[in-house]
Amino acid sequence: MYTYGELLDDVNYLSRYGVETGAIGSSAYGRIIPYVKIGAGKHSVMVTAAIHAREHVSALFAVRQMYKLFAAPPECGVYFVPIVNPDGNVLVSEGAAAFGSDSDRLLALNGGNEDFSLWKANAAGVDLNVNFNARWGEGAQNVRTAGSENYIGAKPFSEPETVALAEFTRKIKPVLTLSYHAKGREIYYEFGQSGERLRRDRAVAEYAASLTGYRLIEGTRGSAGGYKDWCVQELKIPSLTIELVSDNFSHPLPDESIYEDFARAPLLPVQLCDFMKENGYV
Ligand SMILES: [Zn+2]
Repeated sequence: MYTYGELLDDVNYLSRYGVETGAIGSSAYGRIIPYVKIGAGKHSVMVTAAIHAREHVSALFAVRQMYKLFAAPPECGVYFVPIVNPDGNVLVSEGAAAFGSDSDRLLALNGGNEDFSLWKANAAGVDLNVNFNARWGEGAQNVRTAGSENYIGAKPFSEPETVALAEFTRKIKPVLTLSYHAKGREIYYEFGQSGERLRRDRAVAEYAASLTGYRLIEGTRGSAGGYKDWCVQELKIPSLTIELVSDNFSHPLPDESIYEDFARAPLLPVQLCDFMKENGYV
């Protein structure tokens, strides 16, 4: 699996070649949440991955795109945050022992199971992708107790990771955000838009579907409190949740499960940025 340690190595490597790198903030356990910016131009795109810990192949997908763009920097600034949830990634890769005196609490949250390979939340047991302030608590699968998935947290933005991601997104003012998840090969874009915004966002989502061969999903399917939901509602920009990986694979997903998806769309963020320019959306 692609680990947080590998990401730190990749970020250091790119920074030695003059690429802009930094941190959007830190996790609850003090791990920095790195970003890498590749390309430059009037407009920027935000790419996030691995907000759900077990979906680490989405980080690998983002990092491969990062290197591909590093080889030929685009006329669009692409910000990558490949692991939004570093504590969750470490929990999946190293288990509860990596959290010292908190390991007993984590084991209890995981039902006594020492295998954290299916864990999605952060190390506080909050599912970060239902913790944003966008119809928070109204999601179809929301739960109100900490655990491996779907817990909304004590309040919107209760977690440092979601606060950092929202603040950084407001700062860089992207024209579009892409959130990589796994799995299912589906694209979600709706969260209550109407009129011109709905037409624009659907056009961008349809183009993404044509490039990837993924299925476009209409409606929200019970989603609330997600990063994409918050971007649509608060920033009023197109924002896609992209579920990578064929359903032929099962969790925990092996690295190989992402290879064909990457081959389909290595330049996706730039192609979508160009599409928005060509169609006069920015
Ligand atoms: Zn996910």
